[in-house]
Formats: sequence, C-alpha cells, structure tokens
Amino acid sequence: MSAGSAARRRPASHGLQVGGFVLDVRSLGRRPGTMRELRREVTATERIGLDLVHIPEGAPIDLDLTLQAVSEGVLVTGTVSAPVAGECSRCLESFTDSVELSITELFAYPDSATEQTTEEDDVYRLVDDLVDLEPVVVDAIGLELPLRPLCTPDCAGLCPECGVRMAIAGSGHGHEILDPRWAGLAKFASDADVASPGPQDHPPSDRAADQARSRTEEK
Ligand SMILES: [Zn+2]
Ligand SMILES: [Zn+2]
Repeated sequence: MSAGSAARRRPASHGLQVGGFVLDVRSLGRRPGTMRELRREVTATERIGLDLVHIPEGAPIDLDLTLQAVSEGVLVTGTVSAPVAGECSRCLESFTDSVELSITELFAYPDSATEQTTEEDDVYRLVDDLVDLEPVVVDAIGLELPLRPLCTPDCAGLCPECGVRMAIAGSGHGHEILDPRWAGLAKFASDADVASPGPQDHPPSDRAADQARSRTEEK
C-alpha cells in the first residue's frame, strides 16, 4: 500500500457507524468457512476518484459482496459498481460512464496472527466487528479509472488550428486557405509560377507595361 492510501484511512476504532460503507459482521461468527451475501446501495457522500473522472457526490454505489469468515479475519469479495462522470482528455467534453470493480480484501481479527505480524497500512483491521469498505473502494476506484479518460474510445479531439471539436466539424475540416499565414505562402507560390517560364518569355518590364496598360484602360 502506498503512503497516500494509508493517509486516507480513518483513525482505527473511532467514529465508525454501521451503514453506508460500514458493515457489521458480528452475525457472521468466527467459524472459518461461514459465508454471507450482502447487497447494498450506498450513496456517495463525496466525489470519489480522479480529477478528470470520478463517481459524483450523491451517486448510488452498488455493493454486491460475499463476506466469509476465515481463520485470520473476514474476507470480503465481490463487485462494486457505480456511475462515473468525467471530462474527455482529448476534446474536453463532459461524459458519463459506469465503472465496475472487483474487490478482494481481508479484514484481520484484532487478536489474529495477521494482526500481530502486519502493519495496519498493509492489511485492514476489523474494528468492533465492523468492516469499513470506504478506503477499499476509494483505493480501487483510483486504480481502475483512467488518468486520461476519453468520451469515446476513438475521440478525434480538437482541431489544432481553431479548437473546434472534430466530431462536430467533420472529417473535411481544415485550414489550407483560411489561415492568413498559409494564404501569404499561397500568394508567393502563385507569383513564382508566373515568373518561372523565364525572363525571355515574360520579362518584368513587359508585365509592368501590361499592368500600366490595364490601369489606363480602366479609366
Ligand atoms: Zn472526446
Ligand atoms: Zn479548425
């Protein structure tokens, strides 16, 4: 476990109330092999996740779990699913999606060998027969969600010239003529084409005379 995940954990044994992510496992007993199914919908009390993609505050989080008594504690396995909201890292559009996590986590009994031979940051503890899944879910979501989320897998992003979303602009969108820098280059290129046949065919003086003549005719 990283120092970051450890820092998010609540101080042991204080402030846990049954409900939400806190499960009372007393009824499971301690006989290894005893199992209990648990389904619960938890409301996210704050956003969980990363800067660009997260489970929004107030979102329903579905827990579909199996609690199993093992010799060292309670093993919690199952899936956690929730809606996510994010901002596409390519086109910056908002999008919604969903995430499903598989979790497998041991919560060690207070007097178990595991409890005595591991650090609290490495293996979760049962506290007053309660399992607090919140740090488990927060860590798992942080690992599961992409650092650079996309609205769709093939998002075309933004036009590098004008910033329009390519999904809106279409595949024919481009800037060969509209960009003033390229317009200047195009003019230079066409002047070079006129002069290229050589000075014998089109001497500059003839061109100047032609231009003078046309100006006279316009009057
Ligand atoms: Zn996008
Ligand atoms: Zn553009």
